[in-house]
Amino acid sequence: MNTKELDKKYIMNTYGRYDVALKSGKGCVAIDENGKSYLDVSSGIGVNSLGYCDDGWVKAVTEQLGTIQHMSNYFYCSQASELARKLCTLTPFAKVCFGNSGAEANECAIKVARKYSFDKYGEGRNEIITLRDSFHGRTVTTLSATGQDVFHNYFFPFTEGFKYAVADNFESVKALADDKTAAILIECVQGEGGVNILSKDFVKAVRRLCDERDIVLIVDEVQTGVGRTGKLFCYENFDIVPDMITVAKGIGGGLPIGLCMCTEKLANVMQPSTHGSTFAANPVVCAGANYVLSVVSDEKFLGEVNKKADYLRKRLLGLDGVKSVRNLGLMVGIELDGRDAHDIAAKCVKNGLLIITAKNLLRMLPPLNISCSELDEAVAILEKTLMEG
Ligand SMILES: *Cc1c(COP(=O)(O)O)cnc(C)c1O
Repeated sequence: MNTKELDKKYIMNTYGRYDVALKSGKGCVAIDENGKSYLDVSSGIGVNSLGYCDDGWVKAVTEQLGTIQHMSNYFYCSQASELARKLCTLTPFAKVCFGNSGAEANECAIKVARKYSFDKYGEGRNEIITLRDSFHGRTVTTLSATGQDVFHNYFFPFTEGFKYAVADNFESVKALADDKTAAILIECVQGEGGVNILSKDFVKAVRRLCDERDIVLIVDEVQTGVGRTGKLFCYENFDIVPDMITVAKGIGGGLPIGLCMCTEKLANVMQPSTHGSTFAANPVVCAGANYVLSVVSDEKFLGEVNKKADYLRKRLLGLDGVKSVRNLGLMVGIELDGRDAHDIAAKCVKNGLLIITAKNLLRMLPPLNISCSELDEAVAILEKTLMEG
């Protein structure tokens, strides 16, 4: 049996896949099992921030792999300590808690917010307001946090205590906030929900409300973080500082990691045995993240991300069949003129461009170090695909 047949027979059917088995990659190019090459503007959903098998990243990871590959969290780990130091030095946050995925990072943030409230106000003040069209993960609690009805099926009972406000409608947030509210959890740009960029006024108003009522503001930076929007973290575009952020996808450069960061106010909420994970803070994964962060946190690098984003936006807006483009940095949603984005994406893949969708949009999350000529190539394949119909 070939890869596809084995997959169909032995792997649970949780994903609709493109008809391609990828075998290797370098930079923005992936090669399939038949030797055909593809330009990748999806980065494994924003994970391969530096593209495939970046030389410096491979070196950092393999060196660590040959030094010590895992230790339990009962021992100190220099790669994890260094990653936490870097993150806290580059941001206003005071402490980090490590995990292995975006959903776990959000689980941790939810636990911190609820314990903060419990410690200070006692039982019952535990509700969390999230937004319609959000996405926060696939665990039973983060599905609950996700403000889309399609995710609230089959797996009952879901975790209690989540309420959904309308994005960019501050009155709807205010109407839900009461003396039971412990936290508000938002993505400043909703990724899976369709690249919806929140307004600065809304985000600032939510920040003010949280300040007034000692509500913990959590910003989910799982997709928007680590340079994706042209700032190290997306909240910087909105002139606020959250009480907590959650980070995953792009920070590991291709290895599984999730983490939550909090300000000084929340730094001592968690104590031994209130949270943990066997694989969290893995030295190999942290070595990869340390490398990614050392590259991406450079102001010049972030400046290039913004330049490339503007360039890509202009090129896309020039295409017949493109109705509008929504982007913040290299987080890009493309609205088509009455065409089915899923159908166009599948045809792009056939034509050698790995692209994804979000709701009814085409979505690009290219490697942050992609070149303008590679962006030209991507736009050319998309143009050709749109012309074919
Ligand atoms: C992908 C994503 C998650 C879930 O991350 P996993 O690593 O798949 O658990 C959570 N929040 C946002 C905003 C995401 O884009």
